[in-house]
Amino acid sequence: MNDCLFCKIIAGEIPSNKIYEDESVYVFADIAPTAPVHWLVIPKEHIAKLSDINDKNSGVVSHIYEVISKLAAEHEEFKNGFRVVSNCGESAGQTVFHIHFHVLAGRDFAWPAG
Ligand code: AMP
Ligand code: ZN
Repeated sequence: MNDCLFCKIIAGEIPSNKIYEDESVYVFADIAPTAPVHWLVIPKEHIAKLSDINDKNSGVVSHIYEVISKLAAEHEEFKNGFRVVSNCGESAGQTVFHIHFHVLAGRDFAWPAG
C-alpha cells in the first residue's frame, strides 16, 4: 500500500534493522524498544489489523508464529519466556495500521496488561 510505513520498510524505502526475512514475512527491531529484545513481525502482504484476518489471509498468521518459534529457539534472551502482542485498533494502542506482532524478550513482564 502506497502510504504505509511498514510497506515502505519492507520495500527498503525506509531503513530498518532487519532480523529475519522470507517470502512472506519480515522481522525488524522496533525503533523504540520496551525490552532488551523488541522485534516487530509483519506479513509482506498489507493487512491493516488483526480484525482483517479472514479465511483467505490467515495462513500467514500461522507462518508468523512458526517464525517466532524458530527465532525464539535461536536466541538466548528467549529461554526464560517471552511475550507476543498485537494491538488491534486505536483503543488497544495500535499506531501503525499494517498488522504487526510485537515480540518481547529479555526481561520479566507484568500481567494483566495495562
Ligand atoms: P503499535 O503501537 O502497536 O501500532 O506499534 C507500532 C510500533 O512501531 C511501535 O512500537 C513503534 O515504536 C514502532 N515503529 C514506528 N516506526 C518505526 C520504524 N520506522 N522502525 C521501527 N519501528 C517503528
Ligand atoms: Zn502496509
